[in-house]
Amino acid sequence: MNTYQLIVIGAGPGGYEAALHGAALGMKTAIVESREVGGTCLNRGCIPTKTLLHTAELARQAREGETFGVTAREVSVDFATMGRRKDEVVEKLRGGIEDLFRREKVDLLRGTGQILAPGQVSVEGTVYTADHILIATGSVPALPPIPGLEHAVTSDELLDRPRQLDSLVIIGGGVIGMEFASLYHALGCRVTVLEAMDRILPNLDREICQNLTMILKKQGVEIVTSARVTGVERTGEESCTVRYSFKEEERAVEAQLVLCAIGRRPNTQGLFGEGVAPEMERGRILVDESFQTSLPGVYAVGDVSSKIQLAHAATAQGIACVDRLAGRTPEVDAALIPSCIYTSPEIASVGLSADEAKAGGRPVAVGKYVMFSNGKTVIQNSPRGFIKLVAEPETGVLLGAQMMCDRATDMISQLTQAVANRMTVAQLRRVVYPHPTFSEGIGQALEELEKKLTK
Ligand code: NAD
Repeated sequence: MNTYQLIVIGAGPGGYEAALHGAALGMKTAIVESREVGGTCLNRGCIPTKTLLHTAELARQAREGETFGVTAREVSVDFATMGRRKDEVVEKLRGGIEDLFRREKVDLLRGTGQILAPGQVSVEGTVYTADHILIATGSVPALPPIPGLEHAVTSDELLDRPRQLDSLVIIGGGVIGMEFASLYHALGCRVTVLEAMDRILPNLDREICQNLTMILKKQGVEIVTSARVTGVERTGEESCTVRYSFKEEERAVEAQLVLCAIGRRPNTQGLFGEGVAPEMERGRILVDESFQTSLPGVYAVGDVSSKIQLAHAATAQGIACVDRLAGRTPEVDAALIPSCIYTSPEIASVGLSADEAKAGGRPVAVGKYVMFSNGKTVIQNSPRGFIKLVAEPETGVLLGAQMMCDRATDMISQLTQAVANRMTVAQLRRVVYPHPTFSEGIGQALEELEKKLTK
């Protein structure tokens, strides 16, 4: 009874998709989960954030309605309803995953899993054996050793109970920081972002960061880069002071709440029994190209082992790993991961950027279209965005795309498809884009790119 072909530890998007795939390929599969199924993405990450962002977007539209002839009225957000709506969405999707486990005959073992030895997992005192063990335990918010940081919250707490705030200081201008800045600003809160590097979203195309900084500053979000946070103090029941240095100058900012969003660290606490330890690097489990750890028959996918911490990267890795275990060649290219940031306007990126090409000394052709005269952008009075496409000069093969505009997170898939299949600009130019759409901007950027290629 306690013997499986595959035991997956962690039911987030890496683990649950891998378990379902294993079962679909005929493996006797179990999945171990100590909390709710769905992992960070569903319970404390992507899904709650995007549900709240949808409310914030409705509030923003209502506020800006006058531009479109909609009579302006007092816009207020009921945080209790917003929170309940978020809970309903999460519960519905969670129920869907549990139904899939039942339907596909994946045994859900509730409790904390611990690897006792290769092929052996204990769950709350019961020992199970498996041919293959797949670790997909995800990550938890990282907290740097800043004095007084215990007064700050992480995205986990703020998503659990969204609340009305007058002011919020966000430490970290990365993906979580900027999504929360967009969210709380749209909900009427005064937001200050303190970022240690010389720009927000330091891993993204520089032009995107500059544009987003400009748009958010214009909207009233305060963004301080090159800020070194030195301490957080509680100054009242509902107020904190964050001290930071900026270019040798000591500064302080007051806020009702402080959010710490400086990255996430791999979650391996209690995962390995005594004397069992795979090779790790700064807490991250090291794996080879088949997702195999240094322990025989033990694999790892997602945030616990991956440098890219994204739900869809974890899913792609989990499915590719199980494919290999079943002796199949993975269909998905798990190395090509699009990245989406749900700010307003949205940001999406895939493959090589012009910045990366330049840093690596690789010559590329770049086609850029500013969405200034895109009909749909004008109709919706969207902030000024752009689409940038990068191609190989000799072949015209599309290598990457970066965009910042409405619907960017939906539109990136067609460009990911093009990059994954090494499509050329000439092939992409055969497409007719419906009018008026945001995607016409892709056609325009391709036209610019073709001009560069034929120069
Ligand atoms: P991140 O790595 O994206 O950003 C952290 C930021 O904090 C960086 O800009 C870093 O320079 C800054 N920082 C670090 N230490 C600091 C300090 N002491 N003071 C000020 N700034 C400091 O991490 P995150 O935003 O916490 O997100 C965690 C992970 O979750 C990321 O891998 C992210 O991609 C992922 N995520 C993705 C999405 C999405 O895809 N839409 C949404 C949320 C989170």
